[in-house]
Amino acid sequence: MVKADGYGLGAVPVARRLAAEGCTRFYVARLDEGLQLRTELGAELADAEVLVLDGVGPGLAGELVAAGLTPVLNDLAQVERWAKAAAGAGRALPAALHFDTGMTRLGLPATEAEHLADHPDLLSGLDVVVVMSHLASADVVGSPQPAAQLGRFLRLRERFPMGVASLANSAATALGPEYHFDQIRPGIAVYGGAPQPDRGPSPMAPVVTIEVPVLQVQSVEAGTAVGYGATWQASTPTRLATLALGYADGYPRAGGVDADRQVVIADSRVPVVGRVSMDLVVADVGSLPPDAVAPGTPAQLLGPEMPLEEVAAAAGTIANEILTGLGRRYQRRLLGQPATNEAHSH
Ligand SMILES: *Cc1c(COP(=O)(O)O)cnc(C)c1O
Repeated sequence: MVKADGYGLGAVPVARRLAAEGCTRFYVARLDEGLQLRTELGAELADAEVLVLDGVGPGLAGELVAAGLTPVLNDLAQVERWAKAAAGAGRALPAALHFDTGMTRLGLPATEAEHLADHPDLLSGLDVVVVMSHLASADVVGSPQPAAQLGRFLRLRERFPMGVASLANSAATALGPEYHFDQIRPGIAVYGGAPQPDRGPSPMAPVVTIEVPVLQVQSVEAGTAVGYGATWQASTPTRLATLALGYADGYPRAGGVDADRQVVIADSRVPVVGRVSMDLVVADVGSLPPDAVAPGTPAQLLGPEMPLEEVAAAAGTIANEILTGLGRRYQRRLLGQPATNEAHSH
C-alpha cells in the first residue's frame, strides 16, 4: 500500500525500494497517485501492477488504459465502464474486483455481487487479477466482525475464483493465516506502525525518525507562563528548550493542553509544555544536566525512542494520521535506497 504518498513518507522512494525487494503489486487510492508512480518510476515498475482503489470514474478509463493502471472495480457501473474500455481497446484489460463484506465504504454491495455472479458476461474482456475485500474491525480486540466478513468473503470467493484472493490489511495479517489468502495488503505495518496497537508493543521495527534542533534555552522563575493562552506555568524554577517544530510540521496541536506529550533530548524523555504553535514547541528540560541542552541539540519526537503509537495516542489519533500528516518542510533523508538511485532528497 503506497497510497497517500506512501503514508506520507514518499510513494516514489518507498515503491522504488519495495520494487527492488521484489514487490510486484502496488495499491494507490487516487488515479493521480498511480500516474505519479508510472511517470516517475517507469522502468523500475515496468513489471509491476499498479492498482487504483478509487476504480474507474466517469470519463477516466482512457487515462487508466494509457498509463497501464489497473482499477479496483467497486460497483457495477465501474465494471461496465471498464468492460467497455476493454472492448474499445480491443484487448483484455486487467481489473480487481472489490466486494463489500461489511465495511460499507467502497466495493460491490451484496446485491451487485449476486447480479455479477449471475451475469458473468459482464466481465467479458476483463482479466480479473485480484478478488478482494476489506475488514472493518481487524484491529478491534474481541470484535466478531472479522470472522463474519471472512465467512462472506469465502462464499464470494467460491463464485469468483479467478485471480488472487486478498483480504488482509496490516491488522488482519496479525489475525492469523486464515485471513491471508494469496496476497496481503499491508500499509501501516510496512511503515513501522503496530498492526494491532491495542494488543501490546509493536512487533514492527521503527521506520521513521524525526529529529529537530533546539533553538533556544532559557532559565525561568516559578510562575512563568509558556506559549499561546499561557496554558502552562512553571511550578518551580526550571529550564525550557524551544524546538524547531510545530503543527505546520504535522506535530498535532489536537489533544489539547493536557496532552501528555514528550520528546527525547539527550537520551531522556522530557515533557512538552504549553500549546503547540505553528513553528515551535517548548520542552521542560529542567530535569537534564545544564550542559546537556544547547541550541542545536537534537530532539527526537518520533523514532526508536518515541514510538509512533505513543505520539498518536497523545494527540487522540492513530499512527496512520500522524504519518500522512507529516509536514513538507522537514529535510528528508532516505536510508537504504537501491544503489542506483540518489540517497538524499528533500
Ligand atoms: C489502506 C488500505 C489497506 C492498508 O491498511 P493498513 O491498515 O494501513 O494496513 C488495505 N486495503 C485497503 C483496501 C486499504 O484501503
